[in-house]
Amino acid sequence: MDDAHEVKYDLVILNGRVLDVAGDRIAEMNIGIMGDQIRCVTPDAISGLTALDARGLAVAPGFIDFHSHVDGNAYSAACMVKQGGTTTIGGERNLNSKVIHRIEQEGFLINQGFSVSASFVLRSAVGVAENRPATDREIRAMVNLSSRFLEHGAFGICFGLELVPGTSYQEILALARVAKSYGRPILVHLRKDGWEALQYFEEILSVAEETGVSVQILQLLYMVGIGGAMSTALKIIDRARDRGIDITADSGLYDAFSVCIGTGVFDAGWENEYGNTSVNDLLISSGIHMGKFCDETLFRHLRAEYPETLVSAFVCDPDAITTALCRDYVYVSTNAADGPHYMGVGAPEISGTFPRLLGRHVRENNDLSLLEAIKKITILPARRYGLTDIGSLEAGKNADIVIFDPDRIIDRADFVGRGSPDAPPEGIAYVIVNGRIVVEGSELTENSHCGRLLKKTL
Ligand SMILES: [Zn+2]
Repeated sequence: MDDAHEVKYDLVILNGRVLDVAGDRIAEMNIGIMGDQIRCVTPDAISGLTALDARGLAVAPGFIDFHSHVDGNAYSAACMVKQGGTTTIGGERNLNSKVIHRIEQEGFLINQGFSVSASFVLRSAVGVAENRPATDREIRAMVNLSSRFLEHGAFGICFGLELVPGTSYQEILALARVAKSYGRPILVHLRKDGWEALQYFEEILSVAEETGVSVQILQLLYMVGIGGAMSTALKIIDRARDRGIDITADSGLYDAFSVCIGTGVFDAGWENEYGNTSVNDLLISSGIHMGKFCDETLFRHLRAEYPETLVSAFVCDPDAITTALCRDYVYVSTNAADGPHYMGVGAPEISGTFPRLLGRHVRENNDLSLLEAIKKITILPARRYGLTDIGSLEAGKNADIVIFDPDRIIDRADFVGRGSPDAPPEGIAYVIVNGRIVVEGSELTENSHCGRLLKKTL
């Protein structure tokens, strides 16, 4: 039986310009959905119980946020899905087994995958509370525990070395061996940012050569898009790839990174890492001083008394992201919601990253084509994580879909003081997660809770 003609689908999307990232083309097609699955993508007429008219609009696979700190937080997920993000992978810091279990039992607004944090979850679970190298015994315990996370579906093992510089090479090596044995990558934020980061690539490349593990470099712009270091960093990665090392990277799109003021990022000497920087470049993004830039007194006060205060550090080179986006191994991540995040508080990446890519970088600046940009947030990250049922619009794939107007899509979120960090974008008509319409206009619908825990299967 020809599926396309006989079946009445649960949901059909008609007359849209389908961004066929697997076939590398854009074509006017209809999409038929049954339950949570795409059943057909066809030029033929089809009908459904619910029909969305997408004439004049683009129809893309749901956007995949390569790396964030949404980590089960419902408000962050709501912002994320309104900008088209249907899947996010987290776990750099706080996504522990309790949160994973909750999402597995109760579902979530979007699809949430996780990696296991060596720097925070594993270390604290085996009792390495301080910032010191783990002992051999502790490393063995971390190895055992990491296997359990990987068996339960973790997408990789994550190292935030900048925040836990006491981590030893032996520790990274031992855990990288575990990751490799399960066919998973290690995800790494290097020990330093800016020019100082460049010397620490060698450590991770050496781990990759010794173990054969795949490497994902996190937060490229927020680590090396500083003081002109991006081009050199990309050359280091290019050369490693030429040598056969499986290394890729992800990046946010804003010229400020956001992190809690009490973290090791701002330990003594931090200004040197970021070139001509001072506390005056730190915008306070949560708490009662929100909207002010720091001065020395405020900086010391908040660090000592309110270390969880979020600050946005305006230290990134505006052009660095354009340079990075030209590499096909650089995916797009929000890195969002690292720190306090609730209404009116936080940083704009949680609400603006994907529309910013498509509105500013594609339409306004012509940095890359629409199809290239969409691939960076759909099929390429899906392939990198081995997510075979999402990332493209094909029969049999999961029905995660974004319908948007490519002539209008734009981010409206901004940093506190300049605007609202959670203002939804313009130009997104519908977002569909697992076959259900969860966003219409910029509002959540009633049945928006249909995301699930994503697990990497063995
Ligand atoms: Zn992060």
